[in-house]
Amino acid sequence: MTVAVYPGSFDPITNGHIDVATRASKLFDKIIIAVYDTPNKHVVFTTEERVELAKTAVASLPNVEVVSFNSLIVHFAREVNAQVMVRGLRMSADFEREFEMAMMNKKLYPELELVCFMASQDYQFLSSTLLKEVASLKGDITDLVPECVAEAIKRKVITKM
Ligand code: ADP
Repeated sequence: MTVAVYPGSFDPITNGHIDVATRASKLFDKIIIAVYDTPNKHVVFTTEERVELAKTAVASLPNVEVVSFNSLIVHFAREVNAQVMVRGLRMSADFEREFEMAMMNKKLYPELELVCFMASQDYQFLSSTLLKEVASLKGDITDLVPECVAEAIKRKVITKM
């Protein structure tokens, strides 16, 4: 059985993340979306909120589960017996950082294989950060996130303006 971890901040989960998880779920037996508890950046949603939104967003994918983690991703991957780590690559933003992290992770856990999915055309320029910015200025984000996330953003980001 091939288990893949898909780590990230997911603050909040977007259709870009869901697209990657859906595609990965067709290749691997089990996908664990691993929500990083203490990412190295400011988060708007709590860990519990990020996990709950991600769970709702992937509820229709039977082999995808969502948990939080608070350690090195390679340690978490070992704990859950994952052989694969999934990441998404957008055209401009991600390559160098992903390459750097991939090299470090390979050093720490050589058996873990990284599989990167090219972001789909519709989501190339979609990031959680940009999404929150657009939402805070009352831009329409309905095509970019599931309904539960759009509502959560409305409550959290827009009403705080
Ligand atoms: P991190 O904090 O690790 O960057 P994110 O939650 O931003 O985590 O993203 C998790 C993973 O999903 C990363 O590999 C990121 O490149 C990828 N990703 C983010 N947005 C998209 C998107 N629109 N399309 C494809 N992959 C994406």
